[in-house]
Amino acid sequence: MAKQAFKAESKRLLDMMINSIYSNREIFLRELISNASDAIDKMYYKALTDDSLAFNREDYYIRVDVDKESRTLKVTDTGIGMTEEELENNLGVIAKSGSLAFKSENEIKDGHDIIGQFGVGFYSAFMVADKVTVLTKAFGNDQAFKWESTGADGYTIEPYEKENVGTEIILKIKENTEDENYDEYLEEYRLRSIIKKYSDFIRYPIKMEVTESRLKEDSENEFEEYKEEQTINSMVPIWRKNKSELTDEDYVNFYQEKHYGFDKPLKHIHIKVDGTVRYNAILFIPENIPFDYYSKEFEKGLELYSSGVLIMEKCADLLPDYFSFVKGMVDSEDLSLNISREILQQDRQLKFIAKNIQSKIKRELENFLKNDREKYELFYKSFGRQLKFGVYNNFGQDKDVLKDLLLFYSSKEEKLVTLDEYVSRMPEDQKYIYYATGETNERIARMPQTELVADKGYEILYFTEDVDEFAIKMLMSYKDKEFKSVASGDLGIDEESKEKIEAEEKENKDLLDYMKETLSGKVKDVKISTRLKNYPVCLTTEGEVSIEMEKILSAMPNNQEVKADKILEINADHDVFTSLKAAYEQDIDKVGLYTNLLYNQALLIEGLPIEDPIEFTNDICKVMV
Ligand code: ADP
Repeated sequence: MAKQAFKAESKRLLDMMINSIYSNREIFLRELISNASDAIDKMYYKALTDDSLAFNREDYYIRVDVDKESRTLKVTDTGIGMTEEELENNLGVIAKSGSLAFKSENEIKDGHDIIGQFGVGFYSAFMVADKVTVLTKAFGNDQAFKWESTGADGYTIEPYEKENVGTEIILKIKENTEDENYDEYLEEYRLRSIIKKYSDFIRYPIKMEVTESRLKEDSENEFEEYKEEQTINSMVPIWRKNKSELTDEDYVNFYQEKHYGFDKPLKHIHIKVDGTVRYNAILFIPENIPFDYYSKEFEKGLELYSSGVLIMEKCADLLPDYFSFVKGMVDSEDLSLNISREILQQDRQLKFIAKNIQSKIKRELENFLKNDREKYELFYKSFGRQLKFGVYNNFGQDKDVLKDLLLFYSSKEEKLVTLDEYVSRMPEDQKYIYYATGETNERIARMPQTELVADKGYEILYFTEDVDEFAIKMLMSYKDKEFKSVASGDLGIDEESKEKIEAEEKENKDLLDYMKETLSGKVKDVKISTRLKNYPVCLTTEGEVSIEMEKILSAMPNNQEVKADKILEINADHDVFTSLKAAYEQDIDKVGLYTNLLYNQALLIEGLPIEDPIEFTNDICKVMV
């Protein structure tokens, strides 16, 4: 029979698994048991919801058998089994989701990383076995199949005789090497402890033949050994247990067993509600951003169980978009097993649960922020962007839920601060919450537009993400204090200097008009600046669209050509202005040249492209010679 090759990526991963230096080999059993449990879930659900199928609770179990003689370890389940096609698709290809394709060659070279990132389920068997055989019969099929592989060189599939629906996975355990002991995976006590550690809460019995000893009959001190089939796991799902019975490690194991993520969760939330609607939930906040999180492929949702039976793998209605990073499961006795996706959306109970969960997550995040700032900042680094999108989306309808979870970098504190912290230390005379936008904190700190505000001793929030300013525009104000860009027309500072500026503008009206003329179509106005101290010029804006927003909008695919109304501000106390005035008296052409140079400088400072770089360099040369 011809061997079929694994898909290229699968082969690479298999090579890695086989030669893995991965220290945590024991997880292979967790992976196989988890697959078995999922397969039984599917069968169990069918039996419960289809009256034509007989239903016996005892029919659903997982068995682990070892045989030291033949060095085999077998995991049997009474789950839904696989068809020939499913064998081909599920075990011939890994990383179906394309997750592997996201990783560069370099990252893939290190086996540890890939296992850490994605978990590899079934394939982890090759860490301890040199041959894997799968015997399986799918529900509704008469023909069973045998899949077999000795590793990266491929696999075979052939018809097989098997009476019962379900799957047997047989591992031929590797021989010991100088450095590695594989025999341990044939030891009963070792297997028992691995099962206890990772799979205790699996809801179906995991049976195993174990050796016990007892006093010999008619003897007072002589023992004899005997074999007995026992259920190794306690079968109580972790979410039904009391929080006091559980350790952090239990939650981490559950998270990893469930493949909610391949990192460690940053935080878990265990909810038990016994009110009008009863439900239990275990929710997690991951530490790392899932690789596809900020792409449209990402699907949010929680697992939904009805009285311990999985009815939906990703129930999106349970999570608002702004908390889409939350992973976990919900189990309720008050939901019907037969509920369909369409009905579910209308379901009153489900709506109640969703609302309840949302407010619990919010409260947990607030406590998190209050009590463990360092970790919260880790969380915020990964998912703060999503919270800000949440403020902005749906015309700001959720902004009040989220505003106290936001953090921004502060010019004064030089770290992330909340809006509440900002407002609570605002001096009496400060009218607005000031912010500045730019690419990096360092660049913003050197922006001319920040000079006056910083000089006044006011704190400035630095916005470095594209969503920041959009979110803040939606928020409009916080605790009655409006947000104000340091680049906006009126900063609400320095009433006293107003007269001086007005006088300067009057005196230099002709010059300013000439400059405005020179820049017509590029800026809306040229003005004497109220905010500049050391720099000669800067750009500011009037109206709703800021320069930062213009940049973002013009980078969008359906660019609407939205332009900010730009003002060129000039520092009347700067020597450059003196030169301009002199030129206006003596050599009008120079005013045009200087104006263009200053405008282009202002563009550069803003991080905007210069429209005509050649002309710009020519202009500089003109000044030099
Ligand atoms: P994952 O479980 O993360 O999807 P695996 O590589 O562990 O990845 O398994 C791939 C697929 O093979 C599973 O999604 C499932 O469809 C199928 N499978 C694996 N083990 C079994 C089993 N014991 N019974 C039925 N199907 C299985």
